[in-house]
Amino acid sequence: MRKIVLLVTTLLIAFGQMSFAEEVNIFSARHYDSDVQLYEKFTAKTGIKVNVVSGKDKALQKRIIEEGKDCAADLYITADAGRLGAFQSKGMFQKASSPALKKAIPSNFRSPYWFGIAKRARVIYYAPSRLNDSDLQGMTYEDLADPYWKGKVVIRKSNNVYNQSLVASLIANNGKKKTADWAKGIVNNMARKPKGNDRAQILAVAAGEAELAVANTYYIALMLSGKKGPEQQAAAKKVRPFFPNQDGRGTHMNISGGGVLKHAPNKANAIKLLEFLLTKEAQQHIVNNTYEYPMIEGVKPNQLIAQFGLNFKQDLKTKVSSYGKNQADALKIMTEAGWE
Ligand code: FE
Repeated sequence: MRKIVLLVTTLLIAFGQMSFAEEVNIFSARHYDSDVQLYEKFTAKTGIKVNVVSGKDKALQKRIIEEGKDCAADLYITADAGRLGAFQSKGMFQKASSPALKKAIPSNFRSPYWFGIAKRARVIYYAPSRLNDSDLQGMTYEDLADPYWKGKVVIRKSNNVYNQSLVASLIANNGKKKTADWAKGIVNNMARKPKGNDRAQILAVAAGEAELAVANTYYIALMLSGKKGPEQQAAAKKVRPFFPNQDGRGTHMNISGGGVLKHAPNKANAIKLLEFLLTKEAQQHIVNNTYEYPMIEGVKPNQLIAQFGLNFKQDLKTKVSSYGKNQADALKIMTEAGWE
């Protein structure tokens, strides 16, 4: 009798462990509640339980590195290809592609180690009450350094990864020497010492403190949505995005993305989750909550960002993997130019 009880108990324990075996652990630096809703949909579809640890990018990366082989994280999700690339260069991801991922994501928005989930552009903002679209006609990122704009440009600090990736893309296209001259020009043209986040730059143009701001596309939509309060909503109505480099390589693009970690205990499930994030259903959910651009064809961005045009030329020539590769050079160039 005792033996039978023991056997049944053992079987129950084994069964219990089996039923919890299907899981995936995400470390995410994306601070969106909507992402959690998305993971719930994934669980409903696949039966794979999703455990999420959210935090700041630097803190999560530090934890993953320190915990090494003992780290339970399977998938690391964050914004900016520069971050993904820099983390990869420390050997933290493993190759984890699949035919579905390759099919869904254009080649310039992925590497063998990490995959773009959504797109964003880093653009110029202006106030139509003071500048006409025709004043900006043909304008490029390179033109932001033109003395014509002296004292008129706002952009955040050089420690910001979005700026580092923009500068990295300039290095990829124009070389280090020209980019160093460009950075000096930008510093000369600044309307104020760099401060604040992307929305603070847009607010400065709305308030007339500057004529041109550099910020990511989804922030104008976020402000227009009212989620950041009536003052920011009113300010956002005074400015418009301008998509630079339309006559050349196209507007600077970046991604939110993720990669499977080197010591992932549940690699197959992590790939399944990435594949799910690239489905039509998930993409629609993402773009309606973050105001980013979809990674896949056939999904429309939220109207709050779509209203500014969907047919702008995206820079599909510059691989976003160059942002991580050129990140150290970009920061050096900015710092040496006196870009705080
Ligand atoms: Fe952002």
